[in-house]
Amino acid sequence: MEPEFWRKKTLEQLSHEEWEALCDGCGKCCLLKLEDCDTNKVSYTNVACRLFDPETCRCGSYDLRFQLVPQCVQLTPETVRREKEWMPRTCAYRLVAEGYDLYPWHPLRTGDANSVHEAGVSILNQCELEFDVPEDELEDHIVAETI
Ligand code: SF4
Ligand code: SF4
Repeated sequence: MEPEFWRKKTLEQLSHEEWEALCDGCGKCCLLKLEDCDTNKVSYTNVACRLFDPETCRCGSYDLRFQLVPQCVQLTPETVRREKEWMPRTCAYRLVAEGYDLYPWHPLRTGDANSVHEAGVSILNQCELEFDVPEDELEDHIVAETI
């Protein structure tokens, strides 16, 4: 990977390795979101997707995620630009797409994969799991429009 590539390249210019490394591992994009059918307003809940692994704070089946969870959105430069309004404000893909630097706690800046958790920015130990929350109670778990 080119040193500090996120400051020099656009999303489209990243290598596969750089693209994967850009994810900070916060897990926030794996929280379920609810859309108000009248206003189209999207809100985050504190409930993580059924495939989310609460021990690693990562997808529990990354390679099969689109088969197992059809609603999972594949991040590409196009989807990041199109959907960035609902993406977490700290998301590294959103930051690069908007021309910002990564936060000082990003693992690419610290060299430590745990720094995102130590900074309290991830959902590690801070979310509930989809299997534990009845669907008709999801609304009670709305936390914010953006996180
Ligand atoms: S919100 Fe962005 S940086 Fe965080 S886990 Fe999702 S894709 Fe990675
Ligand atoms: S399928 Fe995996 S990557 Fe997609 S939202 Fe669920 S836990 Fe996250």
